[in-house]
Amino acid sequence: MTQNPHSPAPQPRPVFSQLPAYSAGKPAAKVEGLEQYKLSSNENPFGPVASVAEVLSSFDQVHRYPDPLSTELRTKLSEQLGVDAEDIVTGAGSLGALQQMMATFAGGNPDGTQDEVIYAWRSFEAYPIVVGLAGAKSVQIPNLADGSHDLDAMAAAITDRTRVILLCTPNNPTGPALTEDQVRKFLVKVPKNVVVVIDEAYFEFCAVSPLDANEQPPVNGLDVYPDYNNVVILRTFSKAQGLAGLRVGYSISHPELTQHLRVGATPFAVSRLAERAAIASIDHSDEVMNRVEHLVEEREKMVKRLKELGYDVPKTRANFVWLPLGERTPEFSALADANALSVRAFGTEGVRVSVGEDEANARLLQVCEEFISAN
Ligand code: PMP
Repeated sequence: MTQNPHSPAPQPRPVFSQLPAYSAGKPAAKVEGLEQYKLSSNENPFGPVASVAEVLSSFDQVHRYPDPLSTELRTKLSEQLGVDAEDIVTGAGSLGALQQMMATFAGGNPDGTQDEVIYAWRSFEAYPIVVGLAGAKSVQIPNLADGSHDLDAMAAAITDRTRVILLCTPNNPTGPALTEDQVRKFLVKVPKNVVVVIDEAYFEFCAVSPLDANEQPPVNGLDVYPDYNNVVILRTFSKAQGLAGLRVGYSISHPELTQHLRVGATPFAVSRLAERAAIASIDHSDEVMNRVEHLVEEREKMVKRLKELGYDVPKTRANFVWLPLGERTPEFSALADANALSVRAFGTEGVRVSVGEDEANARLLQVCEEFISAN
């Protein structure tokens, strides 16, 4: 069809020109004679456990709409987690759940002012996009040198425009987790009308991580949220359960919040297949957790070796490791590429490497050794 030159094409809202592009983890480069490994998206390299894969292969209900409230999954989760099913809202991944939450509580106002959303930086790359899309303003607080959240600075950044604060534990991409004590001390400083999200996408890896001497256990948001009607926990089936491609996640919060979140939830966001697989994953939690434990063992081996090699690796409680390589970041990424490994490079800050298959982890360590001896 010919365009009418006099009528300008529809334009997106002005905020769109300011949104950063989400750069998803790329696949590994092809290298003759080497198997490719993708270590760039914190996925579970093993996929769903066998019992869940079976459920997926025999699924025959694609022509039916899902239950918009994911009632069966919420009931199952409520039994597993010991929370009220009413406190759970599902979404297309925890990112979908976060987006619904953000659109519900933060945005632009008719008088031209913008609500503010505070979060640590660097943290999950999607945060600025979700905040910007909602029409709200990002307030990014730099992490401390050890890659953990600067909670004092985050509390000091609260203004009367603050509507949401995002805590990411363990923090993607740097790795450290928050303790319950840290979270509770922080919550005391937050006005009750501000929503505090505790993003626990990597919860399972964190929960089985061995504690160092004198280390306090990491927070489990489920122990905290019953005491606060402004706290939202985010969890996902993408990581430990290996269902990233199916997009199923959820939030848990007090009914005073869930009543609003349900109104803002995208209808049918969680497919029937995703709901089935998530339920089967709960039914086979033991199998899932065996894999999680294996990945955590691999991570610990990786961290130990990286430290021996002289890398400055922040404490990680997730299924990834952060290498703060500064200016040498692109160089490391190129060397990984040359070895058929994809890693996630963040400008000139550092590289995040997901824990992958055993062979991938071994090759990654070889790359790290070669890199350090060349510098
Ligand atoms: N939160 C964090 C901290 C993440 O790292 C991710 C995935 N990379 C997500 C949320 C979103 O995961 P999903 O939407 O697949 O549940």
